[in-house]
Amino acid sequence: MKIAMIGTGYVGLVSGVCFSDFGHEVICVDKTPEKIEMLKAGQVPIFEPGLDALIEKNVAAGRLSFSTDLAAAVDGAEAVFIAVGTPTRRGDGHADLSYVMAAAEEIAQAITGYTVVVTKSTVPVGTNRQVKQVIARANPKAEFDVASNPEFLREGAAIDDFMRPDRVVVGVQNARAGEVMAEIYRPLFLRDFPIVTTDLESAEMIKYAANAFLATKITFINEIAALCERVGADIKQVSKGMGLDGRIGNKFLHAGPGYGGSCFPKDTKALARIGQDHSVPMQITETVIKVNDETRRRMVEKITDMMEGQLAGKTVAVLGVTFKPNTDDMREAPSLTIVPALIGAGAKVRVVDPQGRREGEALLPGVQWMEDAYKAAQKADAVVILTEWNEFRALDLKRLARKMATPALADLRNIYSARDAKRAGFQRYISIGRSDYI
Ligand code: NAD
Repeated sequence: MKIAMIGTGYVGLVSGVCFSDFGHEVICVDKTPEKIEMLKAGQVPIFEPGLDALIEKNVAAGRLSFSTDLAAAVDGAEAVFIAVGTPTRRGDGHADLSYVMAAAEEIAQAITGYTVVVTKSTVPVGTNRQVKQVIARANPKAEFDVASNPEFLREGAAIDDFMRPDRVVVGVQNARAGEVMAEIYRPLFLRDFPIVTTDLESAEMIKYAANAFLATKITFINEIAALCERVGADIKQVSKGMGLDGRIGNKFLHAGPGYGGSCFPKDTKALARIGQDHSVPMQITETVIKVNDETRRRMVEKITDMMEGQLAGKTVAVLGVTFKPNTDDMREAPSLTIVPALIGAGAKVRVVDPQGRREGEALLPGVQWMEDAYKAAQKADAVVILTEWNEFRALDLKRLARKMATPALADLRNIYSARDAKRAGFQRYISIGRSDYI
């Protein structure tokens, strides 16, 4: 099957590469020439484990190519996927659909023969119908259907998520488009991964409802963690005790500095906005957004308290700035609010991140980038663990403490314990949702 993937970001690139690995002939298109040049030269513009090898394999097999020429890629394609960004629109919280609609206009001009135009981007309910109108208006002769195929992959585990999904959601208006979609996903279908076929609106809604639910779960446990600190309970034990209940499940029950990333913040805001537009306020989601903002602020207060209210002139080493491990994505990362707040309070901030520097340099002005945790800790007054990269999960705490001016550790991912920290020579240790501080 010939597929064009419009937008070669985290979702478009991974999806395009995986489709080619299924055996389809895929052209990945992006309007950013630098990205396409890199890909043509065998380099990967994002960090995603395993992606480089899969690209190499499928390029070598002649099934995968990269181009800036949308029209040539769409010409003769049986399915065209739109995987462009849908960021929060400035000012009102709505999803910005301008990239989706611009792509639809361009696709319309280039369609030859029956084509299914599939929206993979996360888009509000009603967008696929709008895409249909845009294409029909721009090219009344085009023979096409639209389909909604929201993506659920997680950055950092994207290939495995795409190849072994919990489910694939496909929204279509007729059997013809459904057959094309079934053919695309046949390798997964054959391996018994469930494909949920719905109407367009339900598919669009599933994505927002799923993301808002997960954001709610994270925020719920963060709120319980704040209470644990006051009442003397331990959030790790509480999460374990809750998560073993099959109705609850243990995923997304880890307390931390608040959710971030390219999806949860924008998708919760967009869902809240959709609710307002339809006079059905999404009160839970609105509260989740508010509590998540407060959680981030609470992290700054906790660090300040650990430093006895004195951040001015102190050197703070921050370990991990990407929104989660195994990605270079900095979008809406907690570090983007916590680090500037520390600098604003007069701290000198050093930063270590295995993959975050390329994106982070422009986003975190005024920090000093260091090679590793031990160098960052040299004569520092505090170490703050913000992102649980593997290399921060097995730190030699003794070595770290020895290097510091005043050994203080803010473990915002609950990797260590007050006992570990005390034994290693830390004078102060704080974590989330536990009262065993030193
Ligand atoms: P991204 O910003 O990494 O990539 C989007 C790409 O589209 C960019 O490279 C941009 O240059 C390109 N683009 C924009 N307009 C174009 C056009 N007209 N023609 C060609 N290329 C164009 O975004 P992303 O993180 O991959 O997200 C894409 C969509 O997928 C969003 O709607 C997002 O909500 C959704 N999503 C993302 C994730 C994730 O983990 N990142 C997971 C599930 C769903």
